Amino acid sequence: MMQNFSLRVSTIIDHAARYHPNRPVIGRSVEGPIVESNWQEVQREAKQVAAALQGLGIKKGDVIGVMAWNTVRHLSVWYGIPGAGAVNHTLNPRLFADQLDYIINHAEDRFIMVDLDLLPAFEAIIDRLPKIEKIIVLTDRAHMPETKLDVICYSDLIEGQPDDGAWIDGDEDEACGICYTSGTTGNPKGVVYSHRSNVLHALAAAAPDMLNLSSQDRIMPVVPLFHANGWSIAYCAPMAGASMVMPGRDMTAAGLYEMLEMGVTYTAAVPTIWLGMLQHLKAENLGLSTLKRVLIGGASCPRAVIEAFQNDYGIQVLHAWGMTEMSPLGTICSFKPEVSSLSEEGQLDIQETVGHPPYTVDLKIANDAGEDLPWDGKTPGRLLSKGAAVVQRYLKEDADALDEDGWFDTGDVAVMDANGYVRITDRSKDVIKSGGEWISSIEMENAAVAHPDVAEAAAVAIPHPKWDERPVLVIVPMPEKTPDNAEIMSLLEKRFAKWQLPDDIITVDDLPHTATGKISKLELRQRLKEQGYKLPE
Ligand code: ADP
Repeated sequence: MMQNFSLRVSTIIDHAARYHPNRPVIGRSVEGPIVESNWQEVQREAKQVAAALQGLGIKKGDVIGVMAWNTVRHLSVWYGIPGAGAVNHTLNPRLFADQLDYIINHAEDRFIMVDLDLLPAFEAIIDRLPKIEKIIVLTDRAHMPETKLDVICYSDLIEGQPDDGAWIDGDEDEACGICYTSGTTGNPKGVVYSHRSNVLHALAAAAPDMLNLSSQDRIMPVVPLFHANGWSIAYCAPMAGASMVMPGRDMTAAGLYEMLEMGVTYTAAVPTIWLGMLQHLKAENLGLSTLKRVLIGGASCPRAVIEAFQNDYGIQVLHAWGMTEMSPLGTICSFKPEVSSLSEEGQLDIQETVGHPPYTVDLKIANDAGEDLPWDGKTPGRLLSKGAAVVQRYLKEDADALDEDGWFDTGDVAVMDANGYVRITDRSKDVIKSGGEWISSIEMENAAVAHPDVAEAAAVAIPHPKWDERPVLVIVPMPEKTPDNAEIMSLLEKRFAKWQLPDDIITVDDLPHTATGKISKLELRQRLKEQGYKLPE
C-alpha cells in the first residue's frame, strides 16, 4: 500500500519553498515600490500569517474575508489562511456595497484582511457587518491609513511570529477557500473549494495540454486572485516551481506593460485587458521582449485578438473557458494531433473554440431533457459538467446544484465537435431565439468587434410578435470613431445567414458590466426597455 499523502494546499507552498526556494516572486506593492521575493520567503511569511491568526483566536473552519490586489504579500496571505486551518473568502472590490455586506454576512467572515487603498469600502458598510471582529490592513506601520475603524497593522501583526511552525493539518476535504459568483439575478452564491479540489485542480490545470506550466516560466496573473479562484494560478505556479510576477493594483495597459517587461513569459487575463494592451502596444510602437504565451478566458476571445498576438508579436494564445463553480478550469484550447496539421486559418478556427477539458473534468452537451446531443460541431445544447473540482452544492443551500445524474448545468450553451473541442455560443439566459432557432450572440459580438471602429459589442434579444425574438446589436465605438453600420453589417453577412442578421445596430456610449467585467445583458435589455426601444419596422 502507498502512503496517504494529504492533498492540502500547504503541501504546494512547502514543495516550492523546498525545491524552488530562490525562484523569483516579484511584484508591485500597493504602497508603490517593487518587491523582490522568492518561494522560500513567501512560505516563511505565510507561516507567520498562520501563527498570527491563531494567536488572534482563529480556529479551524473560521472564514476570513480578503480584499486585496495581486501582490507578493497576498500570496503569503493566500497560504497563511488555509495554513491556519481557516478559509480564505476572496472579496471583489468592484462589488456593490449591498452585495459585499451580503456575502460577508452570508459566509460568516470573522476577520477582514484588506489592502490599504480598499479600506474605505468597509468604512461605508461596517455597521452592517456585526460579525466582523477584526480588520487587518495589509501594509506596514508607515503606511497605515487614517480611519475611524478599529484596525490592526499587518506588519505589526506578523512581526516576531515564528516562520517555521507547523501548518494546521486536517482532512483534505476541509474547506480552503470561498468565492461567490456574481449572481446577475438574485443573491450571489458561495462556492466552497476544498484543499483536495484545489490541489487536484492545480495538478490538472498545470499539465502539458492545459497551462503547460514549468519551472522555466515566469507567470503574471493579471486576473485578480479574487476572481474565480484566481484561475488557480497561485496554486499552479508554486506547484510547478514557476517564477511569478504580481502586477499590483495598476490595471492600465501602461502599468501592466511595465510589469510584463520584468521577464514575464506567460500571462493570463480576460479579453478586454488584452484589447487595451494591443491598442497601447500599437499606439506607443512597443514590443514584448519576453512574453511567449497568453491565457485568455472569462469571456469569448475575439479572433482579431488571437491573430494580433500570434501574427504581430509571435505570442501564442491559449483560449480557455471556465467558471467560479469549476475552480475554474473547464477547457483550454491546445492543439491535439487531430488538428495540428491544419492550415493557419483552420487553426485559428479551432482557436475560436475554447478547446477541450483536462482529466478530472467531464463535459456533456444536452437537450432540455438532459439527453446527449451529437458532437457534430453544430448542434447547440446545454453544457453540463462533472469533475473533481466542480461544485456540488452552493454554501448553505439545502439541495445539490446537480441533476439526477450528477451533472452541473454550467448555464452556458455550446456545440462540441468530433474531437471534443467546445465552442461556447451563449449564456442560456442570454440566448436569442428567432422563429425557434438559436442565433449565437457571442459569434455576432466577435464578428462586430473585428471592425476596427468597434470597441465593444453586445447582441441581445428583443421581443418580436412573429418571430418571438429578434437580435439587436448594441455597439460602443472606439474613442473618436463613428462606426459605419453598413460596414458592420457586411462583416456580419460573411458569417451569418440573412435571417440571423440583427434587425438593428445601435451605438451607445457604454455598456453595463458586472463586477467581474462581463457585459450585463439583463441590465442592457432593461435599459432598452426603459428607453422605450422599438425594433425598426
Ligand atoms: P461570474 O461570477 O461573472 O459568473 P465566472 O468567471 O464564474 O464569473 O463566469 C463564468 C462564465 O463566463 C461562464 O459560464 C461563461 O459564460 C463565461 N465564459 C468564461 N470563459 C469564456 C469563454 N472563453 N468564452 C465564452 N464565455 C466564457
